Amino acid sequence: MFQIDDLCALAQTYLQPEQVEEIRRAHELGAKAHEGQVRRSGEAYIYHPLAVAGILAEMRMDHQTLVAAMLHDVIEDTDYGKERIRAEFGDEVAEIVDGVSKLTQMNFESRAEAQAQNFRKMMMAMTHDIRVILVKLADRLHNMRTLGAMPLEKRRQKARETLDIYVPMAQRLGMNKIRLELEDLGFAALYPVRYRVITEAIKKARGHRKEIVKQIKTAIKRRLRQEKLAAKVAGREKHIYSIYLKMKNKGLSFSEVYDVYAFRITVETVDMCYRVLGSVHNLYKPVPGKFKDYIAIPKANGYQSLHTVLFGPYGVPIEVQIRTEEMDEVAEAGIAAHWLYKADESSASGSAQKRAREWLRGVLEMQRQAGNSEEFLEHVKIDLFPDEVYVFTPKGEIMELPRGSTAVDLAYAIHSDIGNTCVAARINRRMAPLSSRLANGQNIEIITAPGARPNPAWLNFVVTARARSHIRHFLKTLRSDEAISLGRRMLSRELEAFSLSLDRLGPGQLKQALETYHLDSLEDLLEEIGLGKRLGSLVARQLIPAVSGKDKQRAPIPVHGASAPLMIRGTEGMVLSFAKCCRPIPGDKILGYVSAGRGLVIHRVGCKNVADFRNQPEKWVNVEWEESAEGEFPVRIQLEITNQRGILATIAATISDADANIEDVQMADRDDRYVSLGFTITVHNRKHLARVLRKCRGIPHVTRVTRVR
Ligand code: MN
Repeated sequence: MFQIDDLCALAQTYLQPEQVEEIRRAHELGAKAHEGQVRRSGEAYIYHPLAVAGILAEMRMDHQTLVAAMLHDVIEDTDYGKERIRAEFGDEVAEIVDGVSKLTQMNFESRAEAQAQNFRKMMMAMTHDIRVILVKLADRLHNMRTLGAMPLEKRRQKARETLDIYVPMAQRLGMNKIRLELEDLGFAALYPVRYRVITEAIKKARGHRKEIVKQIKTAIKRRLRQEKLAAKVAGREKHIYSIYLKMKNKGLSFSEVYDVYAFRITVETVDMCYRVLGSVHNLYKPVPGKFKDYIAIPKANGYQSLHTVLFGPYGVPIEVQIRTEEMDEVAEAGIAAHWLYKADESSASGSAQKRAREWLRGVLEMQRQAGNSEEFLEHVKIDLFPDEVYVFTPKGEIMELPRGSTAVDLAYAIHSDIGNTCVAARINRRMAPLSSRLANGQNIEIITAPGARPNPAWLNFVVTARARSHIRHFLKTLRSDEAISLGRRMLSRELEAFSLSLDRLGPGQLKQALETYHLDSLEDLLEEIGLGKRLGSLVARQLIPAVSGKDKQRAPIPVHGASAPLMIRGTEGMVLSFAKCCRPIPGDKILGYVSAGRGLVIHRVGCKNVADFRNQPEKWVNVEWEESAEGEFPVRIQLEITNQRGILATIAATISDADANIEDVQMADRDDRYVSLGFTITVHNRKHLARVLRKCRGIPHVTRVTRVR
């Protein structure tokens, strides 16, 4: 069995002695933490993290990765926490271990297969340090190697998860060696019978292949030597899973897939690659259309190589890959190859992500030169440095949203009706405001209420175009509906003064008026009145039947105020507003001012601004509160108190006991003895306000309570 001394021997081939010592220390801590725990196979638990560290040491990963690998199950399975690891091995190791634990906690079991891609992206998005993924992949690889001890159902489930999640992840990162092994292990566990059939077939076929492989290899070597091209030639065994996939996807028989002879030629320089290519094309005739230049046009994950297929002796097809040593390392280890190259340099801490970015930049550069960076961006960048955030719906579906998205964005992403009626969100089962920014892996439930409406304030925090346009559209429609309804009431009231009504107007009159105003319909006209763009009184005059052309000027002019007042309900919506200068509430004497584009603004009769507007009498509308006016109306009150510790709390409690809400508080005029407190509270009407004021007057140390004018 792989022991700690084996790991240290491997590590000291490329790490400093003190770094190897740290790995030994991590092993001691891990062994102590997992003491008494055994794996299903019966061996002590510590052999699992030890083996995981061994896999990473073979990839020549840095010592922090190996230390983290040794401790990767400690947070999840033992009493040792992140802080303990941080204290003993530093921030970076603690963060990697913590990251691996978080990924381990994310369970794919219950998710639909179609969600695999998003699940994988979510794992990537949760990872700030790419080494977390590398440890997780090594962890999975060892678990798959030792899967035999698991019950059948568990084996199948782990195998499916491996093929759906971890294999594509390894592929994106260019880690082909790990990928191929994970594929074969996953295939064996998921389809044991198919696996056995193919393995047997390979065993049988191998015998008579040997001679041909040897013959071709010798021929290639001889030719390269003649042309003085230094190169290594190796025969390649096909992987079982890739044989299976080819048979399945291309409908080929086993022998059609397997009776292909595969070789890899590695050389020193790129130039040599092409010279070797020319040389083997001279030796055996190439199969037309099979040559691929992945050196000039690398694959999305940075893979580079020349591929060609030749007609071999007896007509057998020969697949040849030609690449440099460096390309070969990248092809096997992908992103991990980067640690390998930089291992000699001083291992500046905090450079893990930088290295990942360098790898990425390198691949991006290759892609740009090849001119197909789009595919690259789609596949690699999104996985590594995502601009998205991934969250779960209560049903376990994964939703993908742009970074910075809020609960409202999610609501609209699910359905526009849910967006339009949402009132709150539950994030990880706790209530949260709709403006909450979402984070990866959260469980989000959107709470809706029938009749709820979008709030214009949402436009300040939503980030998706979908949410923004739906909110805008809703508000525009709503505003237009409200304007039409208010406009109808305003115009009807004006017409009443002339003993007329909208229903009794002749079609000719309406048509003429619309032509005059260049409008298409009565609705358009009513909307303009409701929005204050046109005055109801002037429109009414336009609609009065003309006795004759010259009599028009003598049309009846009503006495101002003679018409019945427009009744205010408080539910008119966005086209009716209450002036902030005087804060009218039901029960106050009020006046309406027609403000172009804003609709009707309600003031109190005594408001000082009303005096200013008196010189435009045509813009004032006679209004009154309807008996049943409802809603919450803000009003300002002022309290003078002798300075007393804790009094603010008493006042606040008194106000809310009286069923009023406090919207804001200001403190002023502070001297030794008196304090003046200003509150904006919301009340239903004057009676309600009177009750609040009376209760406040009853508080000890409160000397004066007034409504602010
Ligand atoms: Mn593990």
